[in-house]
Amino acid sequence: MRKPSHPVANRPSPPDDTPPPPLRGILRQVRGRLITAVVLQAAAAVAGVTPFVAVARIAVHLTGDSRPQADDLWPLVTVACVSGLTALVLGSAAGFVSHIADNDLQLALRRRLAAHTGGLPLGWISAGGASQIKRAVQDDVRALHTLVAHTLLDVTALLVAPAAALVYLFAVDWRLALLSILPLALGAYLFGRAMSGAAAQMAEYGAALGRISSTAVEYVTGIAVLKTFGRGRKGHDRFLTATDGFADFFTTWVRTTLVTSTGALLVVSPVLVLLLLATAGTVLVANGWMTGADLVPFMLLGPAVAAPMSVVGTRVQQIRAGQAAAARISALLGRPALPQADKPLTPKGSRVSMRGVSFSYDGHIDVLSGVDLDLKPGTITALVGPSGSGKSTLASLLLRFQDVTAGAVTIGGVDVRHMSSACLYQNVGFVLQDVRLLHASVADNIRLGRPTATDEEVERAARAAQIHDRIAALPDGYATEVGTGVTFSGGEAQRVSIARALLADAPVLVLDEATAHADPHSEALIQTALSTLAAGRTVLVIAHRLSTIRQADQIVVLDGGRVAERGGHEELLVAGGRYASLWKAQSTGRNAQSTGRDETGEQAPVPSPAGLGRSDDAREGTPR
Ligand code: ADP
Ligand code: MG
Repeated sequence: MRKPSHPVANRPSPPDDTPPPPLRGILRQVRGRLITAVVLQAAAAVAGVTPFVAVARIAVHLTGDSRPQADDLWPLVTVACVSGLTALVLGSAAGFVSHIADNDLQLALRRRLAAHTGGLPLGWISAGGASQIKRAVQDDVRALHTLVAHTLLDVTALLVAPAAALVYLFAVDWRLALLSILPLALGAYLFGRAMSGAAAQMAEYGAALGRISSTAVEYVTGIAVLKTFGRGRKGHDRFLTATDGFADFFTTWVRTTLVTSTGALLVVSPVLVLLLLATAGTVLVANGWMTGADLVPFMLLGPAVAAPMSVVGTRVQQIRAGQAAAARISALLGRPALPQADKPLTPKGSRVSMRGVSFSYDGHIDVLSGVDLDLKPGTITALVGPSGSGKSTLASLLLRFQDVTAGAVTIGGVDVRHMSSACLYQNVGFVLQDVRLLHASVADNIRLGRPTATDEEVERAARAAQIHDRIAALPDGYATEVGTGVTFSGGEAQRVSIARALLADAPVLVLDEATAHADPHSEALIQTALSTLAAGRTVLVIAHRLSTIRQADQIVVLDGGRVAERGGHEELLVAGGRYASLWKAQSTGRNAQSTGRDETGEQAPVPSPAGLGRSDDAREGTPR
């Protein structure tokens, strides 16, 4: 999304809103606590090694030439017990601190994401951004939890404990200590080999899984079409090919890495390390190069030196997942919000005008260029044109779902970018093709239009929108929960959204192919509801079906993002241009169809010219 080049000040951004280097930037705010947790965990790891050292010292006393003295042994036993307990306490404290840090981080991140995404362009959110937001708020924040609360401490323990053990072992006997590093080194080498190319393999793994799920979705969603046309097998084949491909890839991958990774696991396994040290130790002791007592610490601590190697893969994976999650969260937080005016202005009147409006979704191709448009108060302007000509985009600019790339959109003399969004939506209402109802009561769904509306007002709006009877017939009436208590059809949901717009009572109204998904019965009801809604307002209506807008005050024909023609119905017919040929094509279509419904639809006295947008258009393809 481009930043518009107009003098509206950016929303004052919180100090930490600059895009940081992903993971470190995100962890910065809990850095103090994380350092505390790591230090505690490191101390716990050292304390955890200490009992083994004490036990080894006890072994020295027990196997010595002289009779062991209680005075020598008890302090060691005490040290072992105390340090063991200390390790437990410190470890729990570390976990506690890291979980607190994680809790704060999650809360802060979710708050920041909520605050930031609230200001992102609605156009971007409805065009797929919503799923990115969902992923960041749920999955990515959870991936960071694993990293912050668990992985960081695990890694600390995995590094510190073997290091502490090695320090002691070197003090006891450097030759055997060196030998106990051998499995670690060998394991690291083998793991490195097994994991080399893992990034590429993981990418291929992800892609193969992706192919499976997309063909599965394709198969499931298209099942009716595939079956109807006797092609059930075909869709199935694509899915099977994807799964076979995955199986092949996986087998090859496992086969090539199996030997090395199993070898690595074997090399670092405690039993093998113990065998190695015992054998070498026996040789050293038998030759009198080392005392038997000195062998004890190696038996106790030696296996711990290499053991962490076996979980390195998992930890690396968790760190990578955390980094990727942090990168996605940062990208979302770095996405420019719609700039908000410092001193919002209030429009005077409901005259809408667009001057030199251009817009581009990707910053390269202009979907709209140089559009001038005036909507006089209380008039109806119909926007027509082929699918993809930019009608919905133009309407969305008036709703500020995104900002113009060039030019300006004003309502009542005020640029929409200079209004607060609350003020904007008090002035512009809309009924769009895709209606979203919330999981809330029917009444609350309607009341979204005006939260202060009374029950009577809600009901009046529902009556005017031709949906009261349907709601009244529900088991809990207006209190019925949408989604659980009732599922509305497309046409019914549309009428709920009309009731909503009626309550909002905005002077300017945008209607984008509001009947596109409705069945004939619903469509007639929607037309009536829309006529009520449109009365007395400044209306911009998008309709495929020209017969419904022939009485509009102004008809604007868009083509390739430019205004091709404008004028009244008769005027445009006489002009014999694009509109005339569209009209001719649709009239022929209507006569050919010759369903009674069409005739009645046209003859019925429409209370307001806004018969409004019936989209039947197989001819024009599916409207966006
Ligand atoms: P109409 O409503 O006249 O059918 P639209 O305004 O929906 O046309 O689309 C105009 C052009 O913009 C089309 O080429 C369409 O593919 C493109 N377009 C629409 N929405 C988006 C979007 N969210 N991102 C990128 N391109 C889009
Ligand atoms: Mg459209």
